[in-house]
Amino acid sequence: MVMVNQSTDVIEETIPLDPSQEYDTIVIGAGASGIGAAIALTHAGVEKFFVVDRETVGASFAKWPAETRFITPSFPSNSIGMLDLNSIAVGVSPAFSMKVEHPTGQQYAQHLNNLATFFEIPILEHTNVNAIEKHDDLFHLHFDEGTFMTKNVIWAAGEFQYPKTDAFEGAELCRHTATVSSYAELAGDDFLIIGGYESGVDAAYHLADHGKKVHVFDRADPWGEGSSNPSIALATFTIERTRHACFSEHVTLHANNGVERVTFSDGMYELTTSNGEVFQTATQPLFAGGFEGSHAFVSHLFESRDDGFPELSERDESTTHPGMFLCGPAIRHGNENFCFIYKYRQRFAVVAQAIAASLGHETDDFVEAYRGWGMYLDDLSCCGQECLTC
Ligand SMILES: Cc1cc2nc3c(=O)[nH]c(=O)nc-3n(C[C@H](O)[C@H](O)[C@H](O)COP(=O)(O)OP(=O)(O)OC[C@H]3O[C@@H](n4cnc5c(N)ncnc54)[C@H](O)[C@@H]3O)c2cc1C
Repeated sequence: MVMVNQSTDVIEETIPLDPSQEYDTIVIGAGASGIGAAIALTHAGVEKFFVVDRETVGASFAKWPAETRFITPSFPSNSIGMLDLNSIAVGVSPAFSMKVEHPTGQQYAQHLNNLATFFEIPILEHTNVNAIEKHDDLFHLHFDEGTFMTKNVIWAAGEFQYPKTDAFEGAELCRHTATVSSYAELAGDDFLIIGGYESGVDAAYHLADHGKKVHVFDRADPWGEGSSNPSIALATFTIERTRHACFSEHVTLHANNGVERVTFSDGMYELTTSNGEVFQTATQPLFAGGFEGSHAFVSHLFESRDDGFPELSERDESTTHPGMFLCGPAIRHGNENFCFIYKYRQRFAVVAQAIAASLGHETDDFVEAYRGWGMYLDDLSCCGQECLTC
């Protein structure tokens, strides 16, 4: 197998790609989760593994709209053992490496490429996983190139490439924000945005910054939400943006007013809300309604929770197919939602430890080191606490 780093044209031999071999682990997805989990596997002593990606390392981040930046800030806080919020590897700081506090998606994709090269992660790019089955104790992964067998699978294929498309009547007439490469390039002056959480407000802010008139609709009230948990309420970075002059001048927020349907005729889009209001525009509405998530692709290998997310053991393993693990933003335990990097990264080592231990490796030192960096979260009783209001 070759490790191909597109951005630097580095091609180096790592381990042989051989469908007749039995691997210890195959990681699917080379985003923040897949690369982070792979680094943890390496540190835990797992050797016979590789990462596979249908595109390239960091492909989802590279596709973010050009103007979109991380809402979670990076800061080189590592010197006192507090890991940079956007880091996926112990000791690493994107703030220090990139000299940027709120990276763009393209910058973060480059950061992931740099990490993959630095930690010598074996990666097979441009290879789609078409199907996964389990026979006896082995998973069979079907790629175009052949079928590979492995004891363990880490599913880290993310959400971004699996957008939600059928949330209301006529949703297919709208453009999902995940398909926008730059807000500056969108034609039109009057925008209707469906969904008012992070992506919707991000879109509204950039369009308003270009002088466009914007209406944002949400079935709830994400702008008035009182929680301090960014998985529930808007992040501080986003709230600050709503105070900019361009936002107050050009953006109208419609809380508790979901969209019932969108129609298109005679060159006009018509949007009807749950309050019975009707809005018209010649500009294609934007849908910022989130993602189905890639876990739908492997739903046959997990039990499903009532909310549709995979039911996981305390090691983020499938409760029906041992050896099948999940890493990334789809992790749910009880009411806790691990959708940010600083949340789900704390579970990479839990998975790596489970796999390494199953292969007979001693993992105490590994667990202690990761725990010391806040990168091994096995006690979930701390989750869900709100900040004090002072
Ligand atoms: C606009 C936006 C802003 C965000 N801002 C922040 C932020 O500020 N802070 C934060 O912590 N999080 C943020 N997030 C969330 C963050 O981006 C996600 O948590 C992150 O992308 C998840 O990483 P991942 O590795 O799980 O998935 P991805 O980054 O999507 O990586 C999955 C990889 O799997 C590959 N893949 C998918 N299917 C297959 C298949 N069948 N076969 C092979 N390969 C496959 C893809 O090519 C991709 O490279 C943001 C998300 C969005 C959309």
